Amino acid sequence: MNKVVFVVLISIFVGCNQPIENEIINNDSSIESKSNKTAIVIHGGAGNMQATQFDEEKTNLYLGFLDSVVSYGYELLELGANGQEVVVKVLSLLEDSPLFNAGRGAVLTNEATHELDASIMHGKTLNAGAIAGVKNIKNPIQLAALVMDSSEHVFLAREGAEAFADHMGIPPIDPSYFLVPDRLDALKRIQAKEKENRLKDDKFGTVGCVVLDLNGDIVAGTSTGGMTNKRFGRVGDSPIIGAGTYANNATCGLSATGWGEFFIRSVAVHDIHAQMQYANKSLLEAASDVVMNKIPSLGGDGGVIGVDKTGNIVMVFNTSGMFRAGIDGDGTKQVAIFK
Ligand code: ASP
Repeated sequence: MNKVVFVVLISIFVGCNQPIENEIINNDSSIESKSNKTAIVIHGGAGNMQATQFDEEKTNLYLGFLDSVVSYGYELLELGANGQEVVVKVLSLLEDSPLFNAGRGAVLTNEATHELDASIMHGKTLNAGAIAGVKNIKNPIQLAALVMDSSEHVFLAREGAEAFADHMGIPPIDPSYFLVPDRLDALKRIQAKEKENRLKDDKFGTVGCVVLDLNGDIVAGTSTGGMTNKRFGRVGDSPIIGAGTYANNATCGLSATGWGEFFIRSVAVHDIHAQMQYANKSLLEAASDVVMNKIPSLGGDGGVIGVDKTGNIVMVFNTSGMFRAGIDGDGTKQVAIFK
């Protein structure tokens, strides 16, 4: 499919009238190609949703959007765009969609407000940037990338992160932008059974993206509204390097989704990297161990997406579904919600 078609499709899906310019393609012929393969994988959250909750129209809406976004990112990579910019562009599209729990569509806190978290990591430099608990930033992944590129820090939180955004010239957005009707219903539902389980929702919805670019660089990013009904400044795994996001050109890049407390306690995605580096496991073996054994043995659930340095991709989850799409180093595409 040609690029113009992607732009039109994505503009329709996200309901935005800003054209998605392809300014990130690097036409510089001096690009040193260290890899002849590109790969991309994205997720829109894992959860114990039921197939019966998804009629044909809703299923096609999700699958069509995931397909368009992953194809768009892949085409940029194939044209020589650098991985970091592709991750930021792709995650910005997912954040702008009300379908997911990130940016517009983020879930509500206990006080019916929004607190957004995001992180990004570059596998070549091992540079990383993260933000947590911001309330007025339209695209948290863009701010996380600025923390990585334009500050001497890795992780900024709440008002401090918002002050940094202001310092970098990112205008604040009115928080009412984030509110979509479903989220209010979800908050009321959870608050009604609060005594049973304070944090747990049956569907997550965080977004993530991992790519391998033509330079052989692996970049991973994750963005989320966290978990419905969170309070006391709760922060999950998504902005924590090693728990929700990790990238290292020596092994792989990873983004997690799920019940964040368990991903933090497992240092989940760094464990996958470490099993590859020190125990010579494949990406699939290592990711399966963490997602199918370690996290459930603690009582947690969720999933992980990843790309290894040769362009293999994984999308592993222990829930009933995970919104996901990927195109591996051989150009094979997968788009799915359930198993
Ligand atoms: N992992 C996220 C968190 O705990 C939630 C999600 O993946 O949807 O904040």
